[in-house]
Amino acid sequence: MSNRLPTIFVSHGAPSLLYEPGPARDFLSTLGSSLPRPRAVLCVSAHWTTSTPQITGTPSPSLIYDFGGFSDELYSVTYPAPGDPELAKRVIELLNEHGMAADTDTGRGLDHGAWVPLKLMYPKADIPIIQLSVQPHQSPAHHLVIGQALRHLRDEGVLILASGSATHNLRDFFGRAIDAASPEYVTAFDDWLNNAIESNNRNALLDYLHLGPHAAANHPTPEHFLPLFVALGAGDTGRTLHRSCTFGVISMAAYAWE
Ligand code: ZN
Repeated sequence: MSNRLPTIFVSHGAPSLLYEPGPARDFLSTLGSSLPRPRAVLCVSAHWTTSTPQITGTPSPSLIYDFGGFSDELYSVTYPAPGDPELAKRVIELLNEHGMAADTDTGRGLDHGAWVPLKLMYPKADIPIIQLSVQPHQSPAHHLVIGQALRHLRDEGVLILASGSATHNLRDFFGRAIDAASPEYVTAFDDWLNNAIESNNRNALLDYLHLGPHAAANHPTPEHFLPLFVALGAGDTGRTLHRSCTFGVISMAAYAWE
């Protein structure tokens, strides 16, 4: 179907990605214009974790500066994109139809997992944005079902943008230079992930904790990897959009499912 949008997984890196030049920033800066223009974006961010799916329901979401230790300019970033309460209701309907409880949160704004990539992708902030939370105590399969429930949105002009990190070991992150070489445990998992997506090996992806090399070292907690399964569930055939790495241990890989 010609009007069907792909689903996307991006690695959002550190919030300083907004002003630090590099290949991932360059990639995200051209990603928005390389896609058909969506009427709205549903962003699944690693930085909103809840026990059941929650969707932002406010018509004008504020920004959440949910990080510490970065330069002052990051705490005054603005991104005045509107919300889309009607789309939030539609998301809840679709999730309910798949037997999943879900609610809107009318007080929640956009966290940096959403606004860092969105500001690079759509700098005019003229596309409505809603956010969907992840459930870190639930399985990859749970997040795949969320994606399956939402796949109709691709035909309704909604871009499903999953924002996390292909590898994300913050214990090893601190103290490394932005261009540090990657240790073997990172490249092994990052390469495995790339192969599993390009060969459409969904069963391997769902069992990443057992089958992905050094999976637990790359994802000591799952929240930065789980958004990928929403994009996978809503998508079909996977392909690589971008690969690079920052700080040696934060892969900036990005994927699309057509
Ligand atoms: Zn993050």
